[in-house]
Amino acid sequence: MSVLDIVTLPDKVLRERTLPVTRFDEALQQLIDDMIDTMREAPGVGLAAPQIGRSIKLTVIETLADVDEEGNEIDGSRDLYVIANPEIVWTSRKRVKGIEGCLSIPGYVGEVERFESIRVRAQDRNGKKIKLRLHDWTARIFQHEIDHLNGVLYIDRLTDPENLWTEEAYEAMQEAGDEEETAVSDAEVEVKYVVDKTGS
Ligand code: ZN
Repeated sequence: MSVLDIVTLPDKVLRERTLPVTRFDEALQQLIDDMIDTMREAPGVGLAAPQIGRSIKLTVIETLADVDEEGNEIDGSRDLYVIANPEIVWTSRKRVKGIEGCLSIPGYVGEVERFESIRVRAQDRNGKKIKLRLHDWTARIFQHEIDHLNGVLYIDRLTDPENLWTEEAYEAMQEAGDEEETAVSDAEVEVKYVVDKTGS
């Protein structure tokens, strides 16, 4: 197992269409383990193969752990997904706005609208066919990662070209906003969480 280099813009591999995974062999298992290590080391909640320079339809995703009242991670509350050849087969009518970052665009975050829920057909790390129903934050990560497999980045999907900020500018904006507001909405809590944990 090893940590791989993450490629960043303007590397062209991030803009290529990827090829399907066809051989679920030992070399692929090694690559998957390395991608999981790389994602955790970054740290990020997702990593797609083009981000480590491989133009194939493969991504790893790990949701954030739930925390107890003292803020400690609850064991077993993280979900790890290894996803090959994914296809979004259904999307909810409802879309939600949220703040995203990307390990290949370090130092920036932007506002993106995504489907609130999606259904995905894919293969697991052994090539077995799987179907997933995903919601909220997990659905957002999946949409971000599947975009990577089509050469699409979150900066292509901004709600407005101006809604891209440096992490510092965004945090300053959030702090300024907090002083004006008495109640913090769930959306804002999520946003801060994302900024803290950087991107995918
Ligand atoms: Zn990304």
